[in-house]
Formats: sequence, structure tokens, C-alpha cells
Amino acid sequence: MTRRPIVFSPAYAFAWPGHIFPTGKYRKVAEALHERQLTEDFCDAIPATRDELLTCHLKSYLDRLQGIARGELPEDARFECPVTPEVLDAFALSAGGTILAARLALEHGRAVNIGGGFHHAYPDHGEGFCLINDVVVAARVLLEEGAVERVLVVDLDVHQGNGTAVAAAEDDRLFTFSLHQENNYPAKEKSDFDVGLPDFANDAVYLGALDGALTRIARQFSPDLIFYLAGADPYEQDRLGGLNVSLEGLAERDRMVFDFASEQDARVVAVLAGGYATREEDVVEIHIRMIEELLKRGQSPLHGRSGG
Ligand SMILES: [Zn+2]
Repeated sequence: MTRRPIVFSPAYAFAWPGHIFPTGKYRKVAEALHERQLTEDFCDAIPATRDELLTCHLKSYLDRLQGIARGELPEDARFECPVTPEVLDAFALSAGGTILAARLALEHGRAVNIGGGFHHAYPDHGEGFCLINDVVVAARVLLEEGAVERVLVVDLDVHQGNGTAVAAAEDDRLFTFSLHQENNYPAKEKSDFDVGLPDFANDAVYLGALDGALTRIARQFSPDLIFYLAGADPYEQDRLGGLNVSLEGLAERDRMVFDFASEQDARVVAVLAGGYATREEDVVEIHIRMIEELLKRGQSPLHGRSGG
């Protein structure tokens, strides 16, 4: 058993006492990977630098976050979460973790950050528990280095990736796809491709919509790197989601995304995003199954392609 392309830090789990967002899930996923002998060791996340954060966010917003954390400026109700120095450090660390995971994906074909997926963060403000948009930061860092040319975001959290859609709107190198519940938070922005599902959509509806969407994207855009937001909140027992997707349905979803990456000869980096099931063990299980499936896949290109 060796070190796998899995990024983690114990400091992802900042304190949000009483908040519905289960920040303890990161550590629980990491522990479960150990227990199931899937890895001995993780790659340690390092915080994103201010210059890296500026690839997505406005300087005025980053300054405002610092002011709020220091208690010099009023809280912003849109964040729906407390902002402290510890919380800001955790978000910068999560963004650094997604950057590192993306670099590992270029090297190993696939990688995961046991964190990240804060897709409601806009360039100029945070929303819905999200302060720093780690995926857009990581995509931009690699694009601007010339390490990749075309990046696809496959956002399967139950909530639309509104911040990501706006942050990437003017950037042709970034294609954003969001499959979400239509009648749910947030107010919808325009991704490059959006699919809004009806309430209570079951496995068949959900997976059928995903299959159709991936087929269509394959005709439009040829990515060399895919960011997969593997949100656990389309799950039927989720408290903030209104879809009826089973554990097995979510595992099939993960396989479809990784198969798609393989067919596209694209590297893939997964991040966890949301998950608010009544039983936190279910959230952890959904994430673990995704990571297990990812690790089964070989080096780049995933599974390889035999000719043609
Ligand atoms: Zn969500």
C-alpha cells in the first residue's frame, strides 16, 4: 500500500458549532480510507496563496473577508456561515488542496481532494457556506501556467454551481456543467450547460439526465482536465436536497463520470462538495464509494483506450 493521489488536511475541519454543514466529514472520510486500507498516507494540502486566490476572486472581496474575520466589518448574511480567521485559513487550505489534487491528476490520471467543491462562491462575494471557489481557483492556476488548455467542470451537487457559472462565464477555456434540482437554492445563474431536475427525481430520471448531458457535452467540448464535484446531497435522505437518488444510484453516477473521463482521454480531479443526510455516516459512505471507484481506475488515460 502506498501513498495515493489523495489530498487531505486535518485543518479542513474548522469549527462551525451548530451549523448544518458537517465539517467533521473530511476527517471521517480520511479515517475510513485508512480503515479500509485504501491508503496509508495522504498528500498534505498547502494553503493557496493570495495570488492564486486572485485568479478567481476580486482583491476587494478578499480584503473584505479579512476585515470581517478580524471583526472590523459586519458579517454578510449571504454567506450563511460565520467568518473567523480559522475559517478563512480553512478555505484557503481547501483551495490549495484542490490545486494540489489537480496537479496530482495531471501526473496520475486521477486524484481527489477530501474537501473542496465550494461552488457558491462568486468572484466578489460568498454565499451558501462557500467563501472561496476552490475549483475555479485551481482551474485558473493550471490554465494560466499552461499546464492545461480546456477544463470541464462537472457539478453534480444537488444545488446549482451558481458562483462557478458566473466566475467562468467569460472564460472560453472553462466549460461549466451543472446537474441540479431546479426548485432549490440558489437563484440560478447561467452555466455553459444546465440541467434542472424536477423534485423527487429518482435514479432512472437522474442517471438518464446525466447520460444525455454527458453525450451532448462530448460533442461540444474536449477537456484535458475535468473537475468533478461529487456532492452527496442528491441522496434521497438529504435534508437540503429534494431528489430521490439512492446510494447505488450515486455510485453509478460516479462510474458514469469516470467512464466519461476515460472516453474523453481527460484527467479527472474529484472534490466532495455538499452532503447533509440525516445520518452523517451516509454522507461519508457516499464519498468513500466515490473515492474507491476513482482509485480502481488506472493511470492516465483512465483505463486506457484500445485504439480508435
Ligand atoms: Zn449542495
